[in-house]
Amino acid sequence: MQTPFRALLLGAPGAGKGTQAARLTSKLGFTVLSSGDLLRQAISAGTEDGLAAQSYVRGGQLVPDALVGRLVLAQTEKSLLSKGKEISRWALDGFPRSISQAESLESFLATKKAPLDAVFNLDVPHSVLVQRIEDRWVHAPSGRTYNLSFNPPKTPGKDDVTGEPLSKREDDNVEVYKERLKTYRKLTELLIEYYTAKGILVNFKGETSDEIWPQILSYVQSRT
Ligand code: ADP
Repeated sequence: MQTPFRALLLGAPGAGKGTQAARLTSKLGFTVLSSGDLLRQAISAGTEDGLAAQSYVRGGQLVPDALVGRLVLAQTEKSLLSKGKEISRWALDGFPRSISQAESLESFLATKKAPLDAVFNLDVPHSVLVQRIEDRWVHAPSGRTYNLSFNPPKTPGKDDVTGEPLSKREDDNVEVYKERLKTYRKLTELLIEYYTAKGILVNFKGETSDEIWPQILSYVQSRT
């Protein structure tokens, strides 16, 4: 039986949360629930909550706390904490994003006697995040992505397979990205303070996912 471990993943858009979530899953047996995925599923299933969340998600705005909280906590209960079928190692990605969400998560987990063990903060320098977005080019018809620093196309500006020109994604515009980052910072700073005060925040600092992953791995191994 695996030692239980319950965590949250915090990190700016572009910080590599998806990559770390995939490694936690494949290498350490975690189940990761993403609030963004749950919202997108509810929207495509056309549930009442999905319909209510739709306009916010499409517009890139935060979904109201009560709505996203209901959805994420219900799914946490169902797929991670259901009696007799508890998942021993799990992480939430994308939730909470506000203090009010953090408080409702905390009281919910208290009723389940399943408190959090750690909050992982992926700390990637601002300049690296911006550079990553600047360096990203896509072949729009296929979705193939290139990064000028670590995964450049064979011929500059051209797709490797078709030879067609590469372009920038609309939301990879640096100015737009900096705005998203600013909003993210404002909200997460509060969460970082909140979890630091509870003594469960763990900071993993690095410029690439390959630099951050070994730190997460040895941290989890040392605690389980
Ligand atoms: P991103 O990291 O680009 O924000 P996500 O997949 O995490 O992508 O979220 C997609 C959208 O879902 C967000 O823009 C927001 O509308 C909504 N969302 C996800 N999680 C939350 C949350 N905890 N609180 C409010 N809205 C959320």
